[in-house]
Amino acid sequence: MILFDRGTLGPSWQTDGGKLIPAARHSRDESLLLLDCAWDPRVVLAPGAINAHTHLYSGLASLGMPPASPPPTNFLEILQRVWWRLDRVLDEASLRASARYAIAEALLSGTTTLIDHHESPSFIEGSLDVLASCAQELGIRLAVGYGATERNGGLAEAQRGLGECERFLRTNQRSFVRGLVALHASFTVSDDTIRAAGELARKHAVPLHVHVAEDQADVLDAQRRGYPGPLERLLDLGALPEGSIVAHGVHLTEAQVRRAHEAKLWLVQNPRSNEGNQVGYPRALKVSSRVALGTDGWPADMEAEAAALRRLGRSNGDPEDALTARMTTGHALASDVFAEPLGELRANAAADVVVGIPGEAPRHVVVAGRRVVVAGRLVTADLTELRARAHEAAPELWKRMESV
Ligand SMILES: [Zn+2]
Repeated sequence: MILFDRGTLGPSWQTDGGKLIPAARHSRDESLLLLDCAWDPRVVLAPGAINAHTHLYSGLASLGMPPASPPPTNFLEILQRVWWRLDRVLDEASLRASARYAIAEALLSGTTTLIDHHESPSFIEGSLDVLASCAQELGIRLAVGYGATERNGGLAEAQRGLGECERFLRTNQRSFVRGLVALHASFTVSDDTIRAAGELARKHAVPLHVHVAEDQADVLDAQRRGYPGPLERLLDLGALPEGSIVAHGVHLTEAQVRRAHEAKLWLVQNPRSNEGNQVGYPRALKVSSRVALGTDGWPADMEAEAAALRRLGRSNGDPEDALTARMTTGHALASDVFAEPLGELRANAAADVVVGIPGEAPRHVVVAGRRVVVAGRLVTADLTELRARAHEAAPELWKRMESV
């Protein structure tokens, strides 16, 4: 058990089985691991940050991934020339190196929960266990599903993707790792795959996680198939049970966002990714309060993502209060996914706590009652070794990408 010792600065807390409980002032129980939370009057205890949409498989991209050649001129070319080449060359070792690196950096920046959307077409079966074992080793809370797609190998590929989701949902025993069902996006799957994904999600009573209307190409594809858009297609085919996670929504209309809200879906905005891919700004999201923040594979520094949200939101006329709310909606989303209270410091809430001075790197990070960062250092893995492996794996990946 851990004691968050606030001294005279405020109420102290302790952990009990992964939950928070109030600690008696001046408690000096020898069995408690003491975390100093009073070295400076500016120190605050805060719930860990939530990254509501990311891709651990691209965790090495910041380590010198060469630009695509020839340079992509639109979103589909970005997928084809960059991300779909990267995901095709991932194997178990490079996926592990990527996930460990991204998770370590997330914890060191105070992010304690990742909602991951995974794809590695050359290594499907067992891939979710690689991600889950990295989460377990390093101590981050993770929800993960394999994004089924038909873009490389048709229906059989999608069936393997959904099969991996189901295998993981049946076998995962880790209390702070949750399995989800996922689809890549409406435009890379058939109606049969969408229906099968919906059935699987309902069978296991879990949400579905999918990219929706990230680019106009997804909207045009759904329209060619006879639907008003990808949201309607996924809803009509029964693939979005309550609580499902819809990433992006850049090209949804206000009426579509209202429909998503009424269907109790979560929307996730990814400002830095949307800006980088030049897909536009999701103006219609302002009509829902169920909008959380994700990084879409960018490093899980949620302060940096929030700063981008503020900058882009203001220049696109989003109301200030909506932007502020969006920065914390991830806690409600994660509480929904993990079926326990995250994002509050109160008795019986999850003990996912970041201790530090606002604006500085966190001093201590605790996830589900486990110390993962102490005095600014990752204590669950050897950071030097983990970074060295990432730096070794990255250039090998870039080389393999040239051949696919
Ligand atoms: Zn994404």
